[in-house]
Amino acid sequence: MKKINKLFSLICIVLISVTMPINYVKATDKTEGPFKLPELPYSYNALEPYIDTKTMEIHYLKHHGTYVEKLNEAINKYPELKDKSIEDLLTNLEDLPDNIKETVKNNGGGHYNHSLFWTIMGTGKGGEPKGELKEDIEKTFGSFEEFKKQFKTTALERFGSGWTWLIKDKDGKLQIISTANQDSPIMSGISPIMGLDVWEHAYYLKYQNKRGEYIDNWWNVVNWEGIQSSYT
Ligand code: MN
Repeated sequence: MKKINKLFSLICIVLISVTMPINYVKATDKTEGPFKLPELPYSYNALEPYIDTKTMEIHYLKHHGTYVEKLNEAINKYPELKDKSIEDLLTNLEDLPDNIKETVKNNGGGHYNHSLFWTIMGTGKGGEPKGELKEDIEKTFGSFEEFKKQFKTTALERFGSGWTWLIKDKDGKLQIISTANQDSPIMSGISPIMGLDVWEHAYYLKYQNKRGEYIDNWWNVVNWEGIQSSYT
């Protein structure tokens, strides 16, 4: 009987250990704070075959999850900052205490950029923008194809880790720009219309060093309806 009990306990321990990673899903619960990992608007496999399930899972839970965790850790040190929005923090980085400035820039930037990134993709998307955004893209870049070409070139030219963005500059003109690391147009007071993550963590499992192929395939999951809302 004792032996059976022992065996039972052992099985329980093994089962608990095996199911443990599921608890890790709630990455943000590890550090309570004002910022939360936003819900992913689709399942991990929703962007297959262009973006693989494993990449989505790690990218969302571990990468974005850690940005949120580290951002909370920094903000928790200064309770007077806890009611500030992420946009507010990032547009006024210079006002932050010196010892958290860099952390908020990197991890707050990561949180902001990824929160946008998830919403501009979806299942069965792709195609072309519509309405005013389409007209503006054609007027600015000549054609949608030319826009995609320039966007890809900018994304390929980003050395190391970073992002490529479509923004409307302060004069209201569309522009393709690139930022390093988790820097974001919002840090210059510009809300990006769309952005592509070109960190290796966004594509390496499926594409390895072939960033160009990742970019070409990415157009198939771009959610133009979602982007339209950040354009207008
Ligand atoms: Mn990323």
